[in-house]
Amino acid sequence: MSKGFLLVLSGPSGSGKGTVSEALMAKNHEVKFSTSVTTRKPRSMEVDGENYFFKTEEEFKDMVKNDELLEYAHVHTNYYGTPKEFVFQEIEKGEIVLLEIDVQGALQIKDKYKEAVFIFLLPPTMEELKHRIVSRGTESEKDIETRFANAFKELDFVGKYDYFVVNDKVDQAVKDIENIIAAEKLRVKRYKNIKKDIVDRKAIR
Ligand code: 5GP
Repeated sequence: MSKGFLLVLSGPSGSGKGTVSEALMAKNHEVKFSTSVTTRKPRSMEVDGENYFFKTEEEFKDMVKNDELLEYAHVHTNYYGTPKEFVFQEIEKGEIVLLEIDVQGALQIKDKYKEAVFIFLLPPTMEELKHRIVSRGTESEKDIETRFANAFKELDFVGKYDYFVVNDKVDQAVKDIENIIAAEKLRVKRYKNIKKDIVDRKAIR
């Protein structure tokens, strides 16, 4: 079994990160979602502890002070961060931990974890992106404009990622990510000593 690793998925609001992640995890049980903490207010269908851990700004700042977050960022108009404990625990078990985070957070991870894999999810077109944000109906007009403006800025960072996936059809986007995972699992650097394992006729670990 290869070691677990971090799978970082970023992409502008409306690129479909949530939908693609859910479809990916429904088919691939070794992929575990890292639930972030946020100071954003829950949307109507969101459940505390599932979609996010919803926190006050004070609680969030305490987590930062106590070094409980792997990364954190101010995105759009709120704070978001990744709790460390779950991530380390799952990686230790050999699982793939999916971080659905923005580009600022991804860059912080990139500096610290060389074995993480970075995927940037793109919409098929910017018109489609706007259509998706608007039709979601969860943001105010002002928030929609902020998110759309931020989408252009975030696209400047696609070159920092290892892979891009276009989310036109969810099934195809999931297949692309599955292929990335399959290739990443076979990276020589993820194994301790392939020659010894095969010579000893043990399973490669
Ligand atoms: P939303 O409010 O739409 O759920 O998320 C807004 C943005 O925050 C998205 O780009 C999402 O990927 C990002 N985000 C969610 N959780 C985290 C996190 O833990 N850290 C960082 N840096 N960004 C996050």
